[in-house]
This record gives sequence, C-alpha cells and structure tokens, in this order.
Amino acid sequence: MGIEGNYILPSQNLELVEGWGMSSDAVAYVFRPSTLQGIRDVFEIARTSGRSIAFRGAGRSYGDAALNSENVVLDLTRFSRILDWNPDTGIIRVESGVTIRQLWEYILPDGWWPPVVPGTMFPTLGGCASMNIHGKNNFRVGPIGDHITEFEILLPTGELRRCSRQENPDLFYAAIGGFGMLGCFITLTIRMKKVYSGLMEVEPINTPSLDAMIRIFEERMERADYLVGWIDGVASGKNLGRGVIHEANYLKPGDDPNPAQTLRLDYQQLPDTILGLLPKSILWRFMRPFVNNAGVRFVNLAKFLSSRILDRGGKKFRQSHAAFAFLLDYVPNWKRSYGVGGLIQYQSFIPEAHAAGAFKEQLTLAQRAGFPPYLAVFKRHRRDDFLMTHGVDGYSLALDFRITKKNRRAIWALAAKLDQVVLNAGGRFYFAKDSTLSAPSVKQYLGESAVRKFRKLKEACDPDGILETNLYRRLFQSPEAADAEPVEHAR
Ligand SMILES: Cc1cc2nc3c(=O)[nH]c(=O)nc-3n(C[C@H](O)[C@H](O)[C@H](O)COP(=O)(O)OP(=O)(O)OC[C@H]3O[C@@H](n4cnc5c(N)ncnc54)[C@H](O)[C@@H]3O)c2cc1C
Repeated sequence: MGIEGNYILPSQNLELVEGWGMSSDAVAYVFRPSTLQGIRDVFEIARTSGRSIAFRGAGRSYGDAALNSENVVLDLTRFSRILDWNPDTGIIRVESGVTIRQLWEYILPDGWWPPVVPGTMFPTLGGCASMNIHGKNNFRVGPIGDHITEFEILLPTGELRRCSRQENPDLFYAAIGGFGMLGCFITLTIRMKKVYSGLMEVEPINTPSLDAMIRIFEERMERADYLVGWIDGVASGKNLGRGVIHEANYLKPGDDPNPAQTLRLDYQQLPDTILGLLPKSILWRFMRPFVNNAGVRFVNLAKFLSSRILDRGGKKFRQSHAAFAFLLDYVPNWKRSYGVGGLIQYQSFIPEAHAAGAFKEQLTLAQRAGFPPYLAVFKRHRRDDFLMTHGVDGYSLALDFRITKKNRRAIWALAAKLDQVVLNAGGRFYFAKDSTLSAPSVKQYLGESAVRKFRKLKEACDPDGILETNLYRRLFQSPEAADAEPVEHAR
C-alpha cells in the first residue's frame, strides 16, 4: 500500500478500546495487520496523518498501557504463528502475537512448560515481553526477559533489528520492559522449562498474619518452585495480613506414574461447568452480590477459615499446570462482577527489609479510607538487569479496588498515599497494572540515569516520537513529567 500526502484515517477503523480493568478506555483507529509490510504501512499511515501509534497485544494490561486516545492502535493479535520449535532443546521462536495459551498448548505434550507465565493465559508474548512479566516463581527464575534469548524488533524508522545479550544489548535490556515505546516486537526466541509430568504438587499453608506469611516465604524460597500468597484484605488488627500461601513444585522424573496421560492437553483443560451443572460463563453474575465491603468480608472469612481446617490435615494435592497457573481464568469474565466502573489493580514492589511495614501501612490506609481491597495477592521477587524493571529483592502486593463513578476520585487520592509508602520504602511500580501513578513518582522510583538512558534510546529508535500510549503521555509527557526533579536512589 503506498500512502502519500495528508492521509485521513478511515472512520471505519474507529473503535472503543478498553483497558482490561474496564476503568479506562479510549476511542482509537485500530489496525490489525498480519504481515511485516502491513505493520510498516501502519507506521506510514500514522506518520502521514500526524498520529501516534500504540501497540496492543491481547489488551490484558489493567489500565491505559495499550490505549491511545484519538490516535492509532496497532493490534498484533493476527501475528500469531509459531515459527520454529525444537523439542530436544526447548527453544521456541514465535511471532509476537502468539498467546501464552497457544504456547503452552503447543509445547506441553512434548514435556515442556513456559518458564514464566502470568495469572492468565490470554496475553500475547509481545505484550509479556513489553512489560517483562513475572510469575509466581519470580524469586526463583526472574521475569520472562531472563528466558528470552533473542528478538527482532521493527523500529519506527523502518529498520528491523535483531537483539540479544550479545547483539544490540542496550536495546535488548531496554525494549524488554520498555512498554512498547521503542519498537514493535516481531519475533521472539524463548527458552522453555523441561517438565516430567502434567501435574504439580501443591501445598496450601494457612498464615495468621503478614509477618507469618513473610517468614514462611523466606523459609521456603530456597527450595520451592512457586510461592503465592492470598491475603484477606479486610482483616484488621491482630489479623492484619492473614491469608493462605500456596507452594507448588514440579514433579521429578518418576514421581508421576503416567506422565504420557497428564501431559495431554485434555488433562489440563479447565472444566466448562461447575460441579458438572452450572456453565462457568454465567458464574460472574452469581459473584456480583458479593463484590462489596460486606460481601468480601464474608467470602474472605469463609476462605480463610476453610483453609485453616484443611491446613490441619497438612494436605498436599496434585494439580495440573494450567489449573495452578491460571486460577484467574477459572471464572470467565469475573471482572464483570465489579460492575460497569470496573476495577484497578494497584501493585507495588518493596525491598524485603521494608516489606512487612510498608504493606501493613498500605492495608491499613486502604481500610481506614473505607476501601479494603477485594483481592490481595502477595509474591516474592528478585532483581533483574532490565532498564525499566519493576523487580526488587523483596515482595509485591497486588490490591484490586472496585471503581465506581462516586469513589473514583477518592481511590486515586488513596493511591497517591500508597505511592508515598512505596517511595519511602525504596520500592517500585509496574506499568502493566498501573492506572494511578504520577510522573514525579515514576521519575523518583526509576532514578535519573535510567530515565535519561531510556529517553536517549527512544530518540534513537523513534526519532519522530510516533510511539505513544495514554500511559506514556500520563507518566512521561505531562507538564509534571518535565518539571519533576528526578531523585537518584540506590536499588
Ligand atoms: C487476570 C490477569 C492476571 C495477570 N497476572 C499477571 C501476573 O501474574 N504477572 C504479570 O507480570 N502480569 C500479569 N498480568 C498483566 C499482563 O500479563 C500484562 O499486562 C501483559 O503485558 C498483557 O499482555 P497483552 O498481550 O495483553 O498486552 P497489552 O496489554 O495489549 O499491551 C501491554 C504493553 O505491551 C505493548 N505491546 C503489545 N504488543 C507489543 C509488541 N508486539 N511489540 C511491542 N510492544 C507491544 C503495548 O503497547 C503495551 O504497552 C495479568 C493480567 C490479568 C488481566
């Protein structure tokens, strides 16, 4: 397609695009090319029409990371071919629109599993690389970027550049986690993890307080493959931060009497009905009456007490990889139970030494403001070498807040207070989950030299500055972003 002159964008491409949490949206010109030339054409269309471009994978980021109001959204979901797979080495090469689901379903029957997955199987690998996602095993294996050996990225200049730890390393370490601001991932080469069964061994551990939860994480992280904590965000006083940890471990060769069976896909699929009767697709409607302060109090208490009863039996059980990894996919569209205003997730990352104090303070602030989180998930992390990293040697707490027309302003005010707790503790934030951060806070946690280096790389890769998202404008281009004095701090 040749494009000349002042191109006017076609109105039939106008669509309403939402952040996954449904609390932010944008009207944008959406293009869904299926070839490299098609992507180049969209670059050209944007340039000649004076619009910016945001890349979008599956749109699973909670906030505005893949939105671009009144500009172009370049949707990569048709870029979804698996290009090369070697079941002897576990190295796979994919197009960037391949989803986590496509990936695990392709490799598991050969005895492999993705080394890092998020809590849902729908994101694309381009989106995951762009945010440098972490799993429940981050403390053990690092983020997905630690397992990417090479990628090809199309720069807005039209150049297709190959990057690895040896070739263009600066771009390698900045584009992974670079939230789509340096170029478009075209292909990714990733190393998979060998598994000897389709099952994991899972152990639930009831924890009466946040201190107890942290103690158990620290004790077990040397040997556990996965650790994740659910926290009762409503419990206060001496019960503040109580919850349940799930530890999961891969089975060793010989532990599974029938790996040929458990590695089959039909063994992994999440069932379509509850108790064989109720279609799961309508389950969110039954959850809706419980998505309020009183309902969540009741559900959390029931969950905590039932786990305490089970804990007495010290029960370990075996669960498929998919069921353990993608628990959040078990109820389709569960986000709709939050109502039309949707939800935001506030996830912050705090170094280990300050984690207990900072997260107790956050939970107390939220409860006192009348907004206890309706879901709270706790994970252990480690540091990594990527420029825009959210990784710390410490913990993250992800808090889900329901958004309504009435509470929106108050939740944003609460988030600003929570930010202060994070900054005081030397913590970090994560763009995939963000809706509320301000430009000065971003400069402060990333530090001056990282922001400067990132801006320099952006100028080199995207000299006309055509790559933007709503998140980028909010955090890097607002007047506050220019004014804010960056503060250097040790990580
Ligand atoms: C229920 C749920 C659970 C989750 N659990 C976790 C979790 O456990 N851990 C975790 O880390 N995250 C988690 N996430 C967040 C999710 O993994 C990230 O937001 C991921 O980036 C989504 O991928 P996507 O394909 O939907 O990308 P999008 O959300 O569409 O885009 C994300 C970013 O990637 C950019 N982008 C997309 N494709 C490309 C490309 N080809 N080239 C360059 N840039 C691109 C976009 O511009 C945007 O900045 C969860 C999300 C949900 C909804």
